[in-house]
Amino acid sequence: HGVLFSEVRRPCGVMVLVNPQSGRGQAMALYNGHVQRMLTEADIPHTLFITERQNHARDLVRSADLTQWDALVILSGDGLLFEVVNGLMERQDWEKAIQTPLGILPGGSGNALAASVHHYTRASPVWGEDLLTSCGFLLCKGLVSKLDLISIRLSSGARLFSFLSLAWGFVADVDIESEQFRQIGALRFILGTLLRLASLRIYQGKLAFLPAENECGSDSASFSPSDSRLPDHLLAPLEQPVPRDWTLVEEREFVLVLAMFQSHLSEDLLAAPDARTDDGLIHLFYVTAGISRAALLRLFRAMQSGTHLDCGCAHLVYRRARALRLEPLSAAGVMTVDGERVEYGPVQAQVHRGVARLISA
Ligand code: ADP
Ligand code: MG
Repeated sequence: HGVLFSEVRRPCGVMVLVNPQSGRGQAMALYNGHVQRMLTEADIPHTLFITERQNHARDLVRSADLTQWDALVILSGDGLLFEVVNGLMERQDWEKAIQTPLGILPGGSGNALAASVHHYTRASPVWGEDLLTSCGFLLCKGLVSKLDLISIRLSSGARLFSFLSLAWGFVADVDIESEQFRQIGALRFILGTLLRLASLRIYQGKLAFLPAENECGSDSASFSPSDSRLPDHLLAPLEQPVPRDWTLVEEREFVLVLAMFQSHLSEDLLAAPDARTDDGLIHLFYVTAGISRAALLRLFRAMQSGTHLDCGCAHLVYRRARALRLEPLSAAGVMTVDGERVEYGPVQAQVHRGVARLISA
């Protein structure tokens, strides 16, 4: 742990980034009604930046003078932090830039990281403005933890950095299909889940992963692409087979594949109760074909309290991993990273332990 706010403060303090369109479009009202007062009372100088478009925050942090800022705080959903993390990693000075403490305040419809940060305090779950108050309190306390980033390689060669999740199948479809219901806030995921259940489908693909026990990786791995930032030493190139010490999942028919890097999938889905900001783990879940609608609904209901692994459901598998490869076999579909849609196709991921920093308990 480090402490964020030193005795000697720099002039600008905290950069607060707000997406006025996130969630029900209430982020500015949350800033004016809560956040501004909280920061002022805690004597934390800050400057407000309101995003005007997609990728505005990404561009802002890519060119910002980071010596000016003690922390970058996001008042939005997870999507805006995803932009900020990737903007920082695109900088020439990424190694230093990604050390800038990041803070999250729930202002969107998908506030999974905020819910996770609250969960790590071991306090009982809260929602809505109570979650905002809890995260605001943590921000004012200013304790900083290390945060894992997961390097994600898409088939086009594009590379992304993720702090939350990689999803394919049911969860990814719900995330994207429910965007149209963003006016109802976090409820959109419940409505989306019910609609998807009604038209439940099977997703064909190949899944392989490096179990967390096989920590060091093997000689056949080692990805050596052109960019040298954070080499993915556990991955083999996509056109080659996975390294020998990886586990190949026999099943080829799934209902969902979900890799979690924090505890919460959304404000009220506790997918990986044991996950921590810097555990160096990919919490990999998959549900194989053949599960009934009723059993799947039971899993999601149990996930609200994080007890889905106690359901005794033979179709649900949970493994701890360091890296994975997923190759969808159908031509088109949806894949999401941190709740944002990404290019569809074969994908690989590996965890990089504690490379970023997060204001957390
Ligand atoms: P939510 O949880 O409601 O989805 P996010 O923070 O995830 O909120 O933001 C959703 C999307 O909006 C992100 O893809 C982000 O890039 C984009 N975005 C950011 N600022 C704006 C803006 N001013 N107008 C429209 N979209 C924006
Ligand atoms: Mg989002």
